[in-house]
Amino acid sequence: MSETLFSKIINREIPADILYEDEEVLAFSDVSPQAPVHFLVIPKHPIPTINDIQADQALLIGKMVLTAQQLAKQKGIAEDGFRLVMNCNENGGQTVFHIHLHVLGGRAFSWPPG
Ligand code: 5GP
Repeated sequence: MSETLFSKIINREIPADILYEDEEVLAFSDVSPQAPVHFLVIPKHPIPTINDIQADQALLIGKMVLTAQQLAKQKGIAEDGFRLVMNCNENGGQTVFHIHLHVLGGRAFSWPPG
């Protein structure tokens, strides 16, 4: 599978503000934050898009959500609320082809999205 920017963050080949790491997931601040709090949760295993997720990776995806929840609590955005976003392919606005959960908080977001 092709190496992405996020593989380089996992391998410490490029720097990132790492918030959490274990054997399966990594969380780090987004370099171009769209909210007062904006970080990404990624699996260490490189899955290109949501379309590529396999049934046996369901626990891994659940772990990404729980990691987002725990870090949102730590960062003090859980009570007021926050947004989770995972973009898929061109229409979804995906630019890095290693799935990632955006965790955005610290302000209100409108719905529906633009
Ligand atoms: P996507 O558009 O694929 O859903 O989101 C990719 C995200 O990765 C964007 O929010 C972008 O700011 C972030 N990003 C791109 N390059 C880097 C980088 O080198 N470091 C970090 N920390 N975030 C990055």
